[in-house]
Amino acid sequence: MNKIEHIGIAVSDLGLSEAVFDKLLNRKAYKSEEVESEKVKTTFYRLGESKIELLSVTHPDSVIAKYIDKRGSGMHHIAIAVDDIHQEITRLKKEQFVFIDEQPKRGADNKLIVFLHPKSTGGVLVELCQGLNDN
Ligand code: ZN
Repeated sequence: MNKIEHIGIAVSDLGLSEAVFDKLLNRKAYKSEEVESEKVKTTFYRLGESKIELLSVTHPDSVIAKYIDKRGSGMHHIAIAVDDIHQEITRLKKEQFVFIDEQPKRGADNKLIVFLHPKSTGGVLVELCQGLNDN
C-alpha cells in the first residue's frame, strides 16, 4: 500500500463538474478517457501525489449510473496504489476481505484495478491499482 492514488467522484453532468473542479483546483484536467468495460468516461486532475477522478456514465447499464440513481453525484471510491496487485489480493483475502471481482482488470489510466466490496471495508468502496507502466 503506497499512497492514495486517486479519489473517484461520480458525477451526473461531466461538463458541469469539470467546470467546478477547474475552478476549485485552479487547473485543467490532464486526461479524459472512456473505459468501455465499465461504461464510463473518466477525467483526471493531478493534485500533488494523488489525483481526482471524475466518473460519468456513457451507458445507462453502467454501475455508476445505478450509483447515481440511488445516491446522486458524490464521492464514489478511494483508490490505493500497490506494487503487486495479485500479492495484495492474496494477502487481503487471508484477512477475510471480500472482492467484487475475482481477478484484476484493466481500468482507466493504464492500470490494473480491483475493487473490494464495501461490506468488508466499513462501507467504503476501495480500489487497488497497480500501474502498468510508471506515470
Ligand atoms: Zn478509480
